[in-house]
Amino acid sequence: MRAVVYNGPRDVAVQDVSDAKIEKPTDVLVRITSTNICGSDLHMYEGRTDFPRGGVFGHENLGQVAEVGNAVDRVKVRDWVAIPFNIGCGFCKNCERGLSAFCLTTADRSVVPNMAGAAYGFADMGPYRGGQADLLRVPYGDYNCLKLPPDAEERQNDYVMLADIFPTGWHCTELAGLRPGESVVIYGAGPVGLMAAHSAMIKGACMVMVVDRHPDRLKLAASIGALPIDDSKGSPVDQVMELTNGVGADRGCECVGYQAHDPDGHEHPNMTMNNLVKSVKFTGGIGVVGVYVPQDPAPQDQLYKQGEIVFDHGLFWFKGQSIGTGQCNVKAYNRQLRDLISKGRAKPSFIVSHELPLDEAPNAYKHFDARDDGWTKVVLKPAA
Ligand code: NAD
Ligand code: ZN
Repeated sequence: MRAVVYNGPRDVAVQDVSDAKIEKPTDVLVRITSTNICGSDLHMYEGRTDFPRGGVFGHENLGQVAEVGNAVDRVKVRDWVAIPFNIGCGFCKNCERGLSAFCLTTADRSVVPNMAGAAYGFADMGPYRGGQADLLRVPYGDYNCLKLPPDAEERQNDYVMLADIFPTGWHCTELAGLRPGESVVIYGAGPVGLMAAHSAMIKGACMVMVVDRHPDRLKLAASIGALPIDDSKGSPVDQVMELTNGVGADRGCECVGYQAHDPDGHEHPNMTMNNLVKSVKFTGGIGVVGVYVPQDPAPQDQLYKQGEIVFDHGLFWFKGQSIGTGQCNVKAYNRQLRDLISKGRAKPSFIVSHELPLDEAPNAYKHFDARDDGWTKVVLKPAA
C-alpha cells in the first residue's frame, strides 16, 4: 500500500510500505478515504519531536471497513467509520472513566515509565502506523470505530473532523469551563482554534474572540460570527480588555502550543499561556489543547529543551484562575458531535481549503507548514 513516510525534517514522501493487516482478532482494517494533515503533524514534520524516520503519519482518519477480526461484533465490513486519533482499549481504568486519551493498555512504556495514551502516527504515542495511507489497522476496533450515518460518503469533509479537531476544539471549551452566555478568547485560528470557536458558538457563548495574524484564518473566524483579533496590529491582551470593559474574558482557550511565536516569527513557548493569564478575568478558566512536549530536540528557546517555560504563576494564582490541559478524549464527545453534524447544527468542513490525492501530500505539507495564504486545512483522499 502507499503511505506518507517521514524521512527527516521537512522531508516526507509517498512510498510503498507493507500492507496494514489484521494482527489480533479484535482489530478492524479500514480502507482510508479521507485523512487530514494536522498542526500536530507539523511538529513532527519540522523535526521538533523524536518521531522515527520511516514512520507513517496520519491520525485524522475516516474510511470504509475492509475486514474485521474474529472477535469483532459490532463493526461490519463496508461500514463507514470515523476513527478517533487516540487508541484506547475500552477496559482500563482510564478508558472506563472516559479518559480515552490516557489509555493504560495501548501506551508505549518505553517513552516514560507510567506512560498513558496512544495514537496513530504520533511521536511518543506508540508504534502504531498512521492513516495517511491506503489502509489502517485499528486496534480494539469495536471500541475505536465510530459508525457514521448513511450520508457519510457524501459528507466526509464534515465527518472526518470527528477524528480529532472538532472534539479537540470542543474539549478546549470544556477544559475552560465555558457556559452559555459567557465570553471566551481563543488564541490560534488554525484548524483547532477555529473548531474551538465553532464549538463555543454552538454552546451559546455571548462573545467569541479569536487571536491570530493570518488574514485568511481570521476571515474564517469572522465567517462563523467570532470577533477576529489581529495581534500584528497591537497587543491582543489590550484588545481583549477593551472588548470586555477592562474585565477580561470569562474563559480562554490555548490552540497554538509550544511553537507559539510573535508576528515576526520568533518563538516564545510561554507567549500564549501568559497572554491567557492576562486576558482572562479573575476566577476565569483556561483550557490548553495546543501541544506542549516534555523534550524538544530542536528548541528555539533553550529552556524549552526540557519542556519548561517561564510562566506568570504569580498573576495566575493571584487571579484565582484554573487550567485544564492535555490531549482530547475524542470518545467522550464524538457521538454527540456526529449527531450535531448529521442534523445540520454543526458544519466543521467550513475550514477545508484543499482536497487532494494522497500523492500530493509532500507539496501539501510544504504549504500547510508555511501557513501559506489560503491553506487552512488539507484533506487527503487516498482512494481518489
Ligand atoms: P496550526 O499550526 O495550523 O495553527 C496554529 C495557529 O496559531 C496558526 O494560525 C498561528 O498563526 C497561530 N499562532 C502562532 N503563534 C500565536 C500567538 N502567539 N498568538 C496567537 N496565535 C498564534 O495548528 P492546528 O492544527 O490548529 O493545531 C493547533 C495546536 O493544537 C497544535 O499545537 C496541535 O498540535 C494541537 N492539537 C492538539 C490536540 C489535542 O488533543 N490536545 C489535537 C489536535 C491538535
Ligand atoms: Zn490532529
